[in-house]
Amino acid sequence: MADRDCLFCKILEGDVPADIVYESDTAIAFRDINPQAPTHVVIIPRKHIATINDIDSVDHEIVGSLYTAANTIARDEGFSDEGYRAVMNCNKAAGQTVFHIHLHLLGGRVLSWPPG
Ligand code: AMP
Ligand code: ZN
Repeated sequence: MADRDCLFCKILEGDVPADIVYESDTAIAFRDINPQAPTHVVIIPRKHIATINDIDSVDHEIVGSLYTAANTIARDEGFSDEGYRAVMNCNKAAGQTVFHIHLHLLGGRVLSWPPG
């Protein structure tokens, strides 16, 4: 179910424009508006799930599909072997600002660890 107040649901509905790079039955991905790496893509499920805390066992296939989206996009962008990061923030202390779960896919540069 789309959430009327959710930015990423609006992107899914086509009400807010985005540079979409990947689409499947369960997920879409688009370029982050404020990229933190040469490639920074946001991968979201079509289903509105607010945070990691709200993921249910019925969502396993959907959440898994975010990772197959990530490895497909990484291959297309050419950094599968070199390496990349796929990370999901949960709630305020981790910096989550959009409450529709999303995997950040970052690649194209060396990424330090631990993150800030
Ligand atoms: P997070 O802070 O983990 O919730 O990540 C939200 C991400 O969405 C941030 O990296 C933002 O730059 C990105 N973002 C916000 N609005 C848009 C938008 N309209 N199109 C693309 N990315 C966006
Ligand atoms: Zn949403």
